[in-house]
Amino acid sequence: MMKRSIYIFIMMLAGVLPALSAHKVEDIPNVHVADRTRYVSNPDGVLSPAAVDSLDRMLGRVWQQTSAEPVVVAIDDFDDSYMDENTFATELFELWKPGKKDRDNGLLILLVRDRRRLVMRTGYGLEGVLPDITTARISRDKAVPYFKNGDYDRGMVAATSAVAKVLTDPRYAEELRSQYANDARHGSGGEDDIDLFAFMVRAGMVMAVAMLLWVIYTMVSSRKEDEQERWRRLNDIKPVALFVSFIGLGFPVVAYLLCVWRMKRLRDHKRQCPNCGNSMRKLDEVTDNEYLTPAQDLEERINSIDYDVWLCDACGEKDVIPYVNKRSSYTVCPRCGARACTLTGNRIIVRPTTSAPGRGERIYTCRNCGNRTVTPYNIAKLAATPVVIVPGGGFGRGGGGGFSGGSFGGGMTGGGGSSVGW
Ligand SMILES: [Zn+2]
Ligand SMILES: [Zn+2]
Repeated sequence: MMKRSIYIFIMMLAGVLPALSAHKVEDIPNVHVADRTRYVSNPDGVLSPAAVDSLDRMLGRVWQQTSAEPVVVAIDDFDDSYMDENTFATELFELWKPGKKDRDNGLLILLVRDRRRLVMRTGYGLEGVLPDITTARISRDKAVPYFKNGDYDRGMVAATSAVAKVLTDPRYAEELRSQYANDARHGSGGEDDIDLFAFMVRAGMVMAVAMLLWVIYTMVSSRKEDEQERWRRLNDIKPVALFVSFIGLGFPVVAYLLCVWRMKRLRDHKRQCPNCGNSMRKLDEVTDNEYLTPAQDLEERINSIDYDVWLCDACGEKDVIPYVNKRSSYTVCPRCGARACTLTGNRIIVRPTTSAPGRGERIYTCRNCGNRTVTPYNIAKLAATPVVIVPGGGFGRGGGGGFSGGSFGGGMTGGGGSSVGW
């Protein structure tokens, strides 16, 4: 009884084993992603550890010298769901994406022992350096003679060595050289995010310096003007400085603060009476109201213009100086001249269609004199319903993952390469 169950167990194991070595692309170990000093995936032990070691060193040199990304895969068999070894090789290539993304200089060398096939699959960027005829010749001349005798180690080393010789040919160095480092990582945060942050910090500091220079230039270039004009010049660029502060990670706020500080100083600058030459006194915001007209008082209340009132105690001269608020939406009333016009209505006269533009009008009302102004405007044609294009490929191909900072994960193949049997 005991013997029988062991027998059944062994039979089941025997039934499972061939299935284990008949691979799908997803279960080929992506050894390079696990250990970036390795370039050979040998899950079934087709190659000896010594051969793998020798191939790893050979391929490592090619990666370092040329930035091209050749890898070797040796398996017993692949699953019957793949049409042939070419399909399997292409799908594995597309899963791992060997090659730098700017050069597509990846190469997959695939040995399928049980089917007696050696496939080389090249990335787009290698099709010139390693045309199909060359990969076929290397396979046939270097590998097949050994493979015929079952010597996969020497066949693979010979073929890989021939490929390495082509790739490291100085004539191709320029064509293969990528701007990306080997195994530059991104995807799960990491270096790219840090790079982006460093870039934004630098950009912010450049913006801060530029904005600061602009503020200083404005201050210097208007120094011959009166205080009011100098204030106005700075007031024009103050919103820019604020905006730049937001997009420049806050660094340009220095320029904004300088602007604000200088504007305050200009408003408080001692004035001489134009009448008698005595120095004048600035009234505070509450007591200055009695010197303002009702329109000016309204403008202060709706915050479209701020007025400073300067008084000469010697002769009674009074200067009322307007400071326009740039952020206010009030516009100047064409009738009374107060900066108190505001949008009170907006209606569509003709609806736009997909074939014709529409028309509308905006109604502005002055809060000082009640004057209404109607401004017509055009409404753009309606856009046709947009077609949403879902990008194909890429999604749902999670398994491969790993290196994609331009390296190992950036490569594409057009199916170039060769398949040779023996
Ligand atoms: Zn005076
Ligand atoms: Zn008005």
